[in-house]
Amino acid sequence: MQYPELKNVYVCFPGGKHKVLTMSFDDGCVEDRRLVALFNRYGIRGTFNLNSGRKNFEKNLPPDQWAEVYQGHEIACHTRLHPTIARSPLDQVARQVLEDRMDLEAITGAPVRGLAYPNGSWTPEIAALLPALGIRYARVVDDTHDFAMPRDFMTWTSTCHHQHNLLEDGKRFVELYKTQYLYMMYVWGHGFEFRSQADWDVMERFCEMAGAKEDTWYATNIEIVDYMADAARLAFTAAADVVYNPNARSIWLEVDGDKVEIPGGQLIKLG
Ligand SMILES: [Zn+2]
Repeated sequence: MQYPELKNVYVCFPGGKHKVLTMSFDDGCVEDRRLVALFNRYGIRGTFNLNSGRKNFEKNLPPDQWAEVYQGHEIACHTRLHPTIARSPLDQVARQVLEDRMDLEAITGAPVRGLAYPNGSWTPEIAALLPALGIRYARVVDDTHDFAMPRDFMTWTSTCHHQHNLLEDGKRFVELYKTQYLYMMYVWGHGFEFRSQADWDVMERFCEMAGAKEDTWYATNIEIVDYMADAARLAFTAAADVVYNPNARSIWLEVDGDKVEIPGGQLIKLG
């Protein structure tokens, strides 16, 4: 029997890119309005993790402004009242997540499927419970100062907090040129931590440096999760001469160094 020689087949991000930048900010602070405007100026996108039951209107954006302020970004859960959930009974954790999710969905009119653990608090039992509550990823609190894709989206760890080496990590990310890996830079924090003009200047310099780059995909957290799940659904022949994309949208591959777009719903012959 004749079949093609073995090739290296890699998944790429949309457009054949190999880097992704994503942001994640918690608690729905009033500073988010300025932060979103800054991200928008540089084409940077992110996720805002909100507590629908918190009532601190001086420091927090009122819920009736959320849909407008976060337009073009992702709204995700942060539990309804922000408890330290590792200490809470598991059924109360379920209720904290589900009630927050239902409130946020009533505002966005779309499924809300992400979570940032409040106070970074989690247990393996909570992580195991979340998929049954419709949650597809959850962010912990830690800095890796690294650009690897997460092994487990239920304990998704950031590259850095926006006040921990942001410019140094950002410079290393922008300068990455090798393409054997998919690289992710994930920045998290809180709007209320921007206390001075100097804090804003650091974020502005980062956005200027890392934004609007040809080789980088700018995505919300859920867009990364969804794209990787779609990519995992591609069906290849064992010889990798044919691939079927059962998804609605394109998935991008690199086949022996060549970027190939696999359109949704199609059976494509690979070289
Ligand atoms: Zn929080």
